[in-house]
Amino acid sequence: MSRGILLYAEVTRTGYIHTVFFELARKACELSEKLDNAPIMAVLFSKPGVINDYKEGFTNSGIDKVFVFEDEGLEQYSTDLYSNLITDLVKEIDPEIILIGATNQGRDLAPRISATLGTGLTADCVELDINEKGMLAATRPTFGGQLMATILCKTRPQMATVRPKVFKPADEINYKNTDFIYKALNLGNIKNRVKLKEFTKVLNDTLNELDSAEIIVAGGKGLKSSEGFKMLEELAKLLGGAVGATRGAVDLGYAPHSIQIGQTGKTVTPKVYIACAISGAVQHTVGITGSEYIFSINNDPNAPIFNVSDMGLVGDVFDIIPKLIEILKEAK
Ligand SMILES: Cc1cc2nc3c(=O)[nH]c(=O)nc-3n(C[C@H](O)[C@H](O)[C@H](O)COP(=O)(O)OP(=O)(O)OC[C@H]3O[C@@H](n4cnc5c(N)ncnc54)[C@H](O)[C@@H]3O)c2cc1C
Repeated sequence: MSRGILLYAEVTRTGYIHTVFFELARKACELSEKLDNAPIMAVLFSKPGVINDYKEGFTNSGIDKVFVFEDEGLEQYSTDLYSNLITDLVKEIDPEIILIGATNQGRDLAPRISATLGTGLTADCVELDINEKGMLAATRPTFGGQLMATILCKTRPQMATVRPKVFKPADEINYKNTDFIYKALNLGNIKNRVKLKEFTKVLNDTLNELDSAEIIVAGGKGLKSSEGFKMLEELAKLLGGAVGATRGAVDLGYAPHSIQIGQTGKTVTPKVYIACAISGAVQHTVGITGSEYIFSINNDPNAPIFNVSDMGLVGDVFDIIPKLIEILKEAK
């Protein structure tokens, strides 16, 4: 039997387990079946008590074992502390595969782990499978999104980070009698070279929220400047949503790359996606097709975005968005 699949259960800055963990859990169940029912394990770092709200989530997601590292000093993400603890754990339990969400935290942590362990890492995957030789086949876009490459790792453990929202979270209960193993730890023994002083907002506070937002207001080149995006930010705040952008807008410096949506950005699945002055290039729409409802505003009646929209308004964003803002303010 395989030595198992280890999943990183990321705890966010606000104390929740990131939804990408449950997406990884579902995929890990499929991979495990192809690996002779290899055990599925998870590792979690947090301040004491976070796990208590999630025990049922783990037992219902097919996780056999959870390694819990709890300490007040682990409340804040630290590359040094987390990577030291996880590499020691990996040496102890010797998993065959390690899967981590390609979030800001995961993208920082995973390369540190793979470099320390001297193993390979396929980053930012959009598909995972087990090939005929029982190896992890990790697929990711390459050459700026022009091609898809399936990558095998010769060394062990095989590591991959996976973009949030490319897999669905488990939609049915896969009950396991999960073993919660609380690991003793002494953080004083680990050199922690970086101290977090503060978080700075880039556009608004949407960096991680795009992954979980129920409403996304996204802008394209037609917004003409970063000032145009301030207008979107105001609308998103009134709707309780997050702001996204096209690559066109990001390349022109109107919005940061961290909120780019599409083939070379994030995949999003909100309940409502509001596309403002976005033409609807396939490289953008590929990242939004999981949205429940798409509403578009564009001054070109032939813009392709209308072909993938549930409802569209032909008009100028600089007329329509301020009116929407006004109506929402009045309604509040
Ligand atoms: C390999 C590769 C990967 C890519 N990856 C991505 C990706 O991840 N994400 C992504 O978004 N793109 C990606 N692209 C780029 C993509 O092909 C498009 O170029 C990009 O999405 C266009 O951005 P846009 O809609 O903002 O701009 P445009 O295509 O220029 O569209 C602007 C739209 O705004 C409308 N408009 C202008 N002014 C107004 C106004 N005042 N009111 C209302 N409407 C107005 C116009 O009618 C037009 O439809 C990629 C391209 C390649 C080749």
